[in-house]
Amino acid sequence: MLNISKETLDFISKEEKSLKEIFTEIDNNCLVNSSKVLEAFQKYNVSESYFNSTTGYGYNDLGRDNIEKIFAYVLDAPDALVRSQFISGTHALTVALFAFLRPNDLMLSISGTPYDTLHEVIGITPNDSSLASYGVKYDQIDLVNDDFNYQEISKYLKNNKVKLIEIQRSKGYSTRKSLTIDKVEKVIKCIREIDKDVIIMVDNCYCEFVETKTPLTVGADIIVGSLIKNLGGGIAPNGAYIAGRKDLVDLAGERLTCPGEGREVGPTLGINKSLLQGLFLAPSVVASSLKTAILTSKSLEDLGYNVEPKYNEQRADIVQNIIFNDKDKLIKYVQGIQMGSPVDSNALPMPWDMPGYSDQVIMAAGTFTQGSSIELSCDGPIRPPYIAYQQGGLTYEYGKIGIAKAIENLKEEQEK
Ligand SMILES: *Cc1c(COP(=O)(O)O)cnc(C)c1O
Repeated sequence: MLNISKETLDFISKEEKSLKEIFTEIDNNCLVNSSKVLEAFQKYNVSESYFNSTTGYGYNDLGRDNIEKIFAYVLDAPDALVRSQFISGTHALTVALFAFLRPNDLMLSISGTPYDTLHEVIGITPNDSSLASYGVKYDQIDLVNDDFNYQEISKYLKNNKVKLIEIQRSKGYSTRKSLTIDKVEKVIKCIREIDKDVIIMVDNCYCEFVETKTPLTVGADIIVGSLIKNLGGGIAPNGAYIAGRKDLVDLAGERLTCPGEGREVGPTLGINKSLLQGLFLAPSVVASSLKTAILTSKSLEDLGYNVEPKYNEQRADIVQNIIFNDKDKLIKYVQGIQMGSPVDSNALPMPWDMPGYSDQVIMAAGTFTQGSSIELSCDGPIRPPYIAYQQGGLTYEYGKIGIAKAIENLKEEQEK
């Protein structure tokens, strides 16, 4: 089958058998999240008329306005802005930051260095259009042992007037663990003991539906994520969301379009049905992604590689790391994922200089939607310790075949 040896397929099937209990937990979680989505669809009376589309300014788009209410319900949010005018997760995070911060305000990241593409946005890497160029100040507190530095955060908040705290849950291209809802809840309690007003904004990329709570359930003010990740269910063609406190969501709307027009405009150009269908499928797609990640973790660990998280660890997101400590093995594995993809399976990915990233990156993305990482995808910056960041899997079966192909391809390199 697909030039994967029987030996590899048998190995994968054997690994899978040991994961039954963990998979059952994932199914239970998926059921809770699916119920919530269906509840939202019924509460807001989804009907065929919502699939209609607007063009031009996009006034009075019934589907769009209800989609935002449905997303808000599912995310435990008072309000949400869900738009295809967001080009990416980074764009939505940028809009949020520029919407909430003013000259001389202080932004504090408490999960260490933010995601690579935000460096120029904040001004950590100089850019003439960064927040720093407008006089917004930035500081950060690193994690300690993969958890928040509570002492340092308390001390900092007592001594400084912070306007916005950013928490990034998923690890991005770092080597730390991703942050579970329990940890987020604990740190929000700690923050609120000292500062009732600071805006707590959470980069929630890759975390939606992995657990049944959201950061908003546990006290965050605003969360941001991409629709070509978890909540798009592999169906949304693009877009992102900003959800949370109504006043903040309104400010984000004024920034996304223009002051005075805000959320009233924004044509949907035919995507309403895809956004609804994507959200409808998302709990199940996230479950498939989690199973694929767990099977990867177990299999690669048993093949002798370091993995993070381990197969039986609590997960905060859908990302699976394999630490290869070897450039060629990383490249072989990523190329194998591409070979097991439904689109462009003949293309051989090579390391390249990706906009917004400082190291070269190799990326397997045999996806229907460009850059979609809820579809099985795998990438890694070409720098020690040569870590693969794998995520997604629209169905578990395709995920399983994909990693079998990657393992097969990796074996060629191992046997050298
Ligand atoms: C994916 C991701 C983003 C945004 O990425 P885009 O590619 O711009 O959508 C931001 N933060 C984290 C942690 C991410 O995983």
